[in-house]
Amino acid sequence: MRSWSIPAGRILGIELRIHLTFLFLLVFVWLTESASRGSVSIGRGLALVGIIFGSVVLHEVGHALMGMQAGVPAKAIILLPIGGVTVFDETQQPLEPGVLTWKRDIRVAFSGPVVNLLIAFAAGSILLAVAPEIRLWARPWVHSSNLPRSLVWANLWLGVLNLLPAYPLDGGRVLRALFSRRTDPVRATRRAVTIGQVFATLFMLVGMLWNIWLTMIGFFLFIAAQLEERSAVFQSVLETVRLEDIMLTDFATLSPADTLEDALEKAVHSLQDDFPVIRGSDMVGVISKQKILQALRAEGNGYVQSVMNRIFEVAQKKESLASAFRKLTARNLSIIPVVEDQRLVGIVTLQNLMHSMALLAESRKLRKAALNS
Ligand SMILES: [Zn+2]
Repeated sequence: MRSWSIPAGRILGIELRIHLTFLFLLVFVWLTESASRGSVSIGRGLALVGIIFGSVVLHEVGHALMGMQAGVPAKAIILLPIGGVTVFDETQQPLEPGVLTWKRDIRVAFSGPVVNLLIAFAAGSILLAVAPEIRLWARPWVHSSNLPRSLVWANLWLGVLNLLPAYPLDGGRVLRALFSRRTDPVRATRRAVTIGQVFATLFMLVGMLWNIWLTMIGFFLFIAAQLEERSAVFQSVLETVRLEDIMLTDFATLSPADTLEDALEKAVHSLQDDFPVIRGSDMVGVISKQKILQALRAEGNGYVQSVMNRIFEVAQKKESLASAFRKLTARNLSIIPVVEDQRLVGIVTLQNLMHSMALLAESRKLRKAALNS
């Protein structure tokens, strides 16, 4: 998700990143304009890209604000010249497919284009009223030679374009939300992505014959679809893989009656950073290597019992990775004991979860590639 984008500060507390295709847009504006008029003012070319950039930022801020209001805070915004991708923090709440989820998704999707249409409408009305010499309807609509007119048309384009049912454009997100009423979220995404790719291809082909900007849009659409697909694969791994598939079954445990020095001795011989503490067959706590060291340094030798963390979450072995991930992040834990009928059958640690997710995503990609070849 982060590759090909550079950090650009924060807005409303949300991480802002610029996708490198924005540089592409810069080169593209320069090329098309120097081809059509011979000479280009670099300042005006930059200003045009700046207008598009600002409009895209406001579009994404629209999504982020609506998301915040609906209880899904945005984690990051990746800006692409056609709109950008807002990465929502889905770990905050369970993804139960329900009436509310799809209605919420539709509201969040519409909020971006609405911002652009409002800007276009407001700027257009003001220009018509105070500066009719701008000639709002004259061509070219978006060009560095007429920046106010470009502001209106770029926003109109961004608004209308994003309403197309081509995932991951906002119209496509609405479509996915409608699909997700009948089917699971991953399949709904896949279906919407397929429709989006048909649109992207059409844009690129038609654009070559008619308008080079359309080819450009098709190209960006493809890139955006790729970003989304990657996160959909990740999500599907999270939702479909069960803890029993990835949990560590060969692990060390400690007893509450162990001394901290004994515990450290055991920890030295293990790769684990966190240990379940077991009395008989009961889980009574968890403790980390770090906590053992800290306690030894601060108070000298003592018992595991007095230092261990008694508040912990357990998970069933049939639970999904997503559920374990939510439990870990919600309480800032680094280990979850996995139980079956109250019996400890494995552990999942944050470290082990990250590794397994990366491996599983990779193996799915390989399997998919094998199917396609
Ligand atoms: Zn949008």
